[in-house]
Parts: sequence; C-alpha cells; structure tokens
Amino acid sequence: MTTTCPHCGWPDAEPAEIVSRHPTTSGLTLWTRCRCGSLQARVVDDVRVRIVSRSRPAA
Ligand SMILES: [Zn+2]
Repeated sequence: MTTTCPHCGWPDAEPAEIVSRHPTTSGLTLWTRCRCGSLQARVVDDVRVRIVSRSRPAA
C-alpha cells in the first residue's frame, strides 16, 4: 500500500492504531486510526487492502 492520509500525510501502511477487526466472508474489515485521529475502514482480502472510508481528523 503506497497511499497516505489526505489529512496529515502519514503512510496508510503504518496506522497508529488498529481499533477493531471484523471477519467477513471474503476476508477482514479493519478499523484503524491515523496519527491525526482520522478513522479508516479497510477491507482486506487475499490480494490487497483497500481503504473504503475515512473520517475527518479528531478535533
Ligand atoms: Zn492522518
């Protein structure tokens, strides 16, 4: 994964915190938090990780 957080520029490959993990039929859904406080929903399957949603940074 080579993308970065649009809010603070932190590499998405190195989330500050993994908030929760949820197994799905095709893999895993991960909720992670960036250094800036932005929550990210990631869908992980056998091939890759996709970030499907991001929140704004924490106030
Ligand atoms: Zn960030």
